[in-house]
Amino acid sequence: MKEIVGIDLGTTNSVIAYVDMGRPRVIPADGDARIPSVVGVSEEGKLLVGRPARNQYIIRPESTVKSVKRLMGSEQRVIMAGKEYTPSQISAMILGRLRDIAQAHLGDRPQKAVITVPAYFADAARQETREAGELAGLDVVRIINEPTASALAYGLNREDEQRVLVYDLGGGTFDVSIVEIASGVIEVIATSGDNHLGGDDFDQRIVDYVAGEFLKEHGVDLRRDARALARLIRAAEAAKIELSDHPFAAIREEFIAAKDGKPLNLGIEVSRAKFEELIGDLLDRTTRLLDKTLADASMKPSDIDRILLVGGSTRIPAVSEILEARMGKEPSSEVNPDECVALGAAVQAAIIAGEEVDAVLVDVTAFSLGISAIGEVGGMVVPNAYSTIIKRNTVIPTSKAEVYTTVRDNQDEVEIEVYQGENPIASGNAFLGKFMLKGIKPAPAGEPKIIVKFEYDLDGMVQVSAVEKETGKEQRMTISNVRDKVPEKAENTAILAVIDKARSIAGGVEDEEERAALLSLADDIEAALDQDDMDAVAELEAELIDALYEFEEE
Ligand code: AMP
Repeated sequence: MKEIVGIDLGTTNSVIAYVDMGRPRVIPADGDARIPSVVGVSEEGKLLVGRPARNQYIIRPESTVKSVKRLMGSEQRVIMAGKEYTPSQISAMILGRLRDIAQAHLGDRPQKAVITVPAYFADAARQETREAGELAGLDVVRIINEPTASALAYGLNREDEQRVLVYDLGGGTFDVSIVEIASGVIEVIATSGDNHLGGDDFDQRIVDYVAGEFLKEHGVDLRRDARALARLIRAAEAAKIELSDHPFAAIREEFIAAKDGKPLNLGIEVSRAKFEELIGDLLDRTTRLLDKTLADASMKPSDIDRILLVGGSTRIPAVSEILEARMGKEPSSEVNPDECVALGAAVQAAIIAGEEVDAVLVDVTAFSLGISAIGEVGGMVVPNAYSTIIKRNTVIPTSKAEVYTTVRDNQDEVEIEVYQGENPIASGNAFLGKFMLKGIKPAPAGEPKIIVKFEYDLDGMVQVSAVEKETGKEQRMTISNVRDKVPEKAENTAILAVIDKARSIAGGVEDEEERAALLSLADDIEAALDQDDMDAVAELEAELIDALYEFEEE
C-alpha cells in the first residue's frame, strides 16, 4: 500500500509510515525515522527541512522556524528570513519533505495520507493541518487523533471493550488521554495536556545545573554564548538519553569557553538520581494532569485496562515508575514510543484502503532480569531481595545498568547472582549464574560504586558485567539461551509494591476506621496471594488502588 501513508506531524519531530504486505513500517531518512519538525532558510537562501534546519537553529534563529504546530489554528504568522508565512505553509514544507522521503524509499510518490493531530485540536487547527497536507500535494483522506493512532498501533481495535490511558510525553509537549474501544470503534473520552512540557525542558534542567556548576568553578556563564550553549544543550540531551539506561552520564566538552585567554574544558558527571531530582516537579505536573483526565472521565485507576507509553521521553525509567505507582498497573511500551503514532496512522490508512493489517510485532523479554541484593521487601530489609535491571516486556536488543555498593567496611569482593523472574525474593526466580568481582579498593561500606550492566541480544544471550566505577576493575559472564530458563512461578511485583504503599499511607491516616480498612485490604491481598487465588487478588487490588487514589486526592 505505497500510495497511502500515515503521518505523525509532531511538534518536535515528524514520522512517516506505511503498511507493507500487512506490516506497518516507518520510513527512515538517513537511518532515523524521526524528522525534526524544523524549517529554515540557509545563508545561501536554500530551504532546509529537518535535521539541517534544526542544526542551524541556535545560530540563525531568525531564519529558522520550529514548533510551528503550536500555532496551528491561530491567526499568528511566522517570520522566516524576513518573509511572512502562515503556520500551515510551514507545516506544508515539513509534509513535503516527508512525502519526498517516502518517494525516495518506495519509488512511488504517495498520493494520499492520514495525518494525526492532538485530541485537543479544535476544528480550525484540524482544518489547517488538512490544508497543509493539500499544499504539500497530498490528498488527506482522514485526520485522526494521536491517542487513537497509538491504540491502533497496539492493535487494540481488534480487542474487546477496553479503556486505555495514553500517556504521551514527547520533546516539547505532554498529552494524556483516555480512549474507549468498543466493537472496533475508538473514541477519545477525555484529554488534557501541557503544550510546553517535555524532553526539551528536561534538557534545559541539565543545562542549568551544569552551567551553574561551571559558573561556580570558573566564573563563566556558558548560557551567555550561543555556540557554547548550543553545544551544552546537545550534550545535555545525550546525557539524558544515556541516563535512561545507565546510572551515570558524563558530559565532556573541550574548549567550551575561554578565560583570560586560556581555554576552559567542561567535564561533569550527572547521576540518574540527580537527574530525577532536577525534573521531579515536571513529572509531578504530568501526574496532576493524569489525575485531572481521570476525573474528567469520571474514572478511577482501576477502570483503566491498559496504559500506553508514547513519545521519546517515556523512555525515562522514572516515568513508568511514577505511572505504575499511580495506576497500580505496568504500562506498555512494546511499540517504539517515537514511532507509535505514525504506525497507527499507517494502520488507519490501510484500513481505509481495505487492506489487512498485522500487529506491529516486536521482540520483548518475557521476564524481568536482575540480581540478588540487600533490599526492602514488604517493609523489611532482607539480604536476598531481587533487584531488577531489565524489566519484563522490554524491547530487545537492550542494554541496562544499575549501580550497587558494598555493605561492610573494606569489603573487597562482591558476588553477582543473576536471576530471571518477577519474585521480589531473588531465590524465588530462575537462577541464571553467578560470578565474583574481586579486588575492590578498600573503602567504608556504601562508598564503592559497582555498576552492573546487562546486555540482552536478539538471540537470547545476556552479557552481564560488573565494574568498579573508580578503578575500572571488571568481571563479566555470558548467559546463553536465557529464554529457555523459565522461573517456576511468576509473581506480580506490582501488587507487592501496591501493598507496600498502602501500608505506608495507612501509617499517616488519622481516622482509625479508615486506617484499619486499608491495612485489612493489604492483609487480604497477601492472603489471597498465598493461596494463589489470582481472581481474588485482582479484585482486592482494584479496591485497594481506588482507596489509595481517594486518599491521595484529599
Ligand atoms: P518525540 O517528540 O516523541 O520524538 O520525543 C523526542 C524527545 O524524546 C526528545 O526530547 C528526546 O530527547 C527524548 N528521548 C528520546 N530517547 C530518549 C531516551 N532514551 N531517554 C530519555 N529521553 C529520550
